[in-house]
Amino acid sequence: MIKVNKKKCIGCGACASICPEVFEMGDDGKAHVKNQKNLPCVKEAIESCPVKAISK
Ligand code: SF4
Repeated sequence: MIKVNKKKCIGCGACASICPEVFEMGDDGKAHVKNQKNLPCVKEAIESCPVKAISK
């Protein structure tokens, strides 16, 4: 299951720009998982997150 650790997320927006089909920025300034599509860009987003807040 794709998850964002909201305590770790600093709201940089990288995951949402790399993989907009799965991640979006919420009103709380944190990334949200929109769905559990296991696209290649999910892995890319995980690797690009500066605080390693995304897990799968
Ligand atoms: S890349 Fe990481 S820190 Fe940046 S918005 Fe996404 S989950 Fe948050």
